[in-house]
Formats: sequence, structure tokens, C-alpha cells
Amino acid sequence: MSQLHQLTAQQTIQKIKGNEVSAQECVEAVFGQIHKLEDKINAYVTLVEEQALTKAKEIDKKISEGKPVGKLAGVSIAIKDAICTQGIVTTCSSRMLENFVPPYNAEVIDRIKQADGIIIGKTNMDEFAMGSSTETSYFGPTLNPWDNSRVPGGSSGGSAACIATDEAVLSLGTDTGGSIRCPASYCSVVGLKPTYGLVSRYGLIAYANSLEQIGPMSKDVYDCALFLSIIAGHDQKDGTSVNQPTKDYTQYLKNDVKGLKIGVPKEFLGEGTDPNVKKQVWGAIHKLEELGAVYEETSLPTLEQSLATYYIVAMSEASSNLARFDGLRYGYRVDKDEADWATVYSQNRKNGFGAEVRRRIILGTYALSAGYYNKYYLKALKVRTLIRKNFEEAYKKFDVLVGPTMPFPPFKIGEKIEDPLQLYMSDVDTVSANLAGLPAISVPCGFTKGLPVGLQILAPPLREDLVLQVAYTFEQNTDYNGVKPEL
Ligand code: GLN
Repeated sequence: MSQLHQLTAQQTIQKIKGNEVSAQECVEAVFGQIHKLEDKINAYVTLVEEQALTKAKEIDKKISEGKPVGKLAGVSIAIKDAICTQGIVTTCSSRMLENFVPPYNAEVIDRIKQADGIIIGKTNMDEFAMGSSTETSYFGPTLNPWDNSRVPGGSSGGSAACIATDEAVLSLGTDTGGSIRCPASYCSVVGLKPTYGLVSRYGLIAYANSLEQIGPMSKDVYDCALFLSIIAGHDQKDGTSVNQPTKDYTQYLKNDVKGLKIGVPKEFLGEGTDPNVKKQVWGAIHKLEELGAVYEETSLPTLEQSLATYYIVAMSEASSNLARFDGLRYGYRVDKDEADWATVYSQNRKNGFGAEVRRRIILGTYALSAGYYNKYYLKALKVRTLIRKNFEEAYKKFDVLVGPTMPFPPFKIGEKIEDPLQLYMSDVDTVSANLAGLPAISVPCGFTKGLPVGLQILAPPLREDLVLQVAYTFEQNTDYNGVKPEL
């Protein structure tokens, strides 16, 4: 039988509600795992054990008094450190925000609390979510649970690693260009980037606000659907929030893909895709075919431009969003009170931000500056529209599109960090969903030389139901889900 920390959210809730175990025991079991493994994995920046146990006891009390409890009762949840938590330091894994304690909760945090989910800590990430490897964190890299010499993916690397190691039952990540799906793929867990606007971004520290979404990471597809049902829904505090009634996504989890039309864009399997990754992904496609789906190879030519377009848009937005971190209003401040304002300002930013963040601010500022705005930023916006239209066309013919989440398996720590362009290349299959605002999931689809491979499934806007149904069917009919890293 599984130990308590190994349970999924669904199993944990059943056992707690059925009085088989207490919420306190479940949370203690997860912390047991954290204390055992954190030295090796470094998934967390901050832990809030005492708070979590107090909350667990409150839930146990409610249950013993016969009072109703929420849908996430007693589930240990880790939060990416880019999401504001009232009273809990929120660093974005940056020296700039090393001591920042938000005075309010992000909307998703309030929703988790209302559902009686238990926040256990804040997870490590690439600094300000800029990266694909969690190596740019000010607090050191998170290590891949499958091979400690490799990266866990990023930027939500901590949120993925803690699920793979049972150091959390659920986690929240954020995805601007792949940051939920990439680490989900590299750690062999499930991660969903929702449709733009489905989940409130209120209280998310912005990197590139027109691209990013908060989303669920979990041990299986059921938990992913359950968690999404809690965090999704209209929020008037976020001007881009979609006004749609809330849904219970678990009701769409049918083990059935009969007649489903799958498109396989050749651009997702293009140059630079590892042959073993291709093999696993084609294996997954044939599995879906065996289960009754029909697939066809297709082409979305604009995807060739998506990486360049993404980096112009993301860096431009970053240069603007990060302007507030000047050490005066927010953030790290050097001790140079006698110096003039401009010196203090630039010293604060030079010392508070790491190299990758500074690089992006500089490039983004350049792309937005007079004389280059039309050439780079405006052009990128136009290409972004073409990419969106290209997807619209494809969805006239196909229900979903599939491909690899990542073009190659997890790489060695230090292997790509000195060469930013190489690192950016790893986002080639994930960024287009963000440019077009589409829902996309990564679900484990096998291993190559002991390293995880993820299958990416994309659907039209607000069709999370479809993405989840296909992922669920795939998971139910394959054995990849139960496989755990040796720790
Ligand atoms: N790797 C991409 C980037 O560095 C995506 C990051 C993200 O989704 N936050 O921009």
C-alpha cells in the first residue's frame, strides 16, 4: 500500500473525508519526505510547516464536529514563488525580492484556502520565471529527481520536482512560454497551461503579462482537472479574466478518444528534435490511434516564427513589468545613501537582478525603443496574430494538436546556461500555445535512457475539457504514470 505522502489529491481527500486518516497525518507525511529529500532536490525556497499543521488541525476539527470541508481538504499544496502569499515571503527566486512579504494573497491562493487546501511552501524557480532549467534562481538550482546531475526544467522547476518526489501532492506553476509544461515533462508529472484568461493572474508577479497563466501541476490527470476546477473562474480584479461560469473539469474525464481528430504539426517534430523523443511521441500517437482516434500529419508554417516572436514580445513586456523594481518602491537596495539617484537606481538593479534578467531587460528595452519599435515589437505582434489565425485554421480540421513538450530530454546542469540562445531553443514547441492563448497540457509518455519524455496536447481556447480527456485516456491506457524516480 502507498504511504500517505505518495497518495494523489483524490486519494488523500477520500481518506480524510472517510475518517481513515487525519489531515494532520497527511501533512506530516509530506513534510517527512521534504525533510528527507530537500538537501538533495532543493525544490523549495520557503517552507511553512507550522502554519500548515495548524490549518490541518483546523480541518480535522471541522471533520470531527461533522462540519462540511472544502474540495481540497487536507491536500498539501506547493506554490511557485512568483505568486503572492500574504505574510509569506515571495521572492521570485531573486535577490531583488529576497525579503518581500506580500500584504495580500493572489486570487488563486484565496481560492485554495476556501477549498481547505493546505499551503506548505513556496517553490524554487528561474529568477522572475525567465528560463527553462531553474538554474537562474538566486537560491541555487533545483535538481532533477530522475538524475541529480540534470535540470528539472523550468521555470517552475521546484513545482514539478516536488510532485515527482512526493514532497507535495499538488503544486501551482506559471507558464509564460512553457514554464509549467517543460518541467512537467522533465520530471514526469502532469502540468496544464490554461487558456489565457481562465485563471486569475491577480497577485502573480508579472514577467510577460499578455502571455502568462497560472496552472496546476499534479501526479495524475484527475488531480489536474480537480485542481483546475478550484483555481479557474472569473475574477474582476484581473481585467483579462474571462467571464465564464465555473466548471467541474473532473466530469469530462472520459476514457474515450474514439473518432477524435488529431493533427500532428510537422513543425513540432522539426530539426533539433531528439530521435528518441520523436520515437516516444510517435508511440503515444499510435497508442491514441489504437484507442480509436484518427491522426494526420499537418503543417502550421507560422510555427517556424514562434520562437523569435515569443522572445521579442516576452522581453519587451519584461522590460516594462520589471521597471518597478528599483529598490525605492520595491526590492533590494544598496547601502549608498549619499550617492545621486541615478547611481543608486542602477546599483540596485545591477546587484538585485541576475545576469539573465538584466539581459532580457536590456534586449526588451531595445526592442521597444524609438526606431526599433516598428522593426521588432510591432512586427512580432503582427506575426503573433498570424500564428493565432494559423491555429484557428487548423482547429477547423482537428480537435486537438499533439507533439513533444520538449524537443530533447533533460540536459546537464551547466550545459546550456552559458549560451542563452541554446537555452531559448528548448522552448520551441511550447511558446506557440502562449502566443495564441491556447490550453496545453504535458503528460508523461515514456522515457529515453531513463529520462522522462512528455506528450503535449493543445486544443482551441477554453477547451480544457478536451485536453484533459485526451490526456486522461492516454494515462489510463499506459503505464507511465505509476513510474517513480529512485530517490
Ligand atoms: N523559457 C521561457 C522563457 O524563458 C518560458 C518561461 C516561462 O514560461 N515563464 O521565457
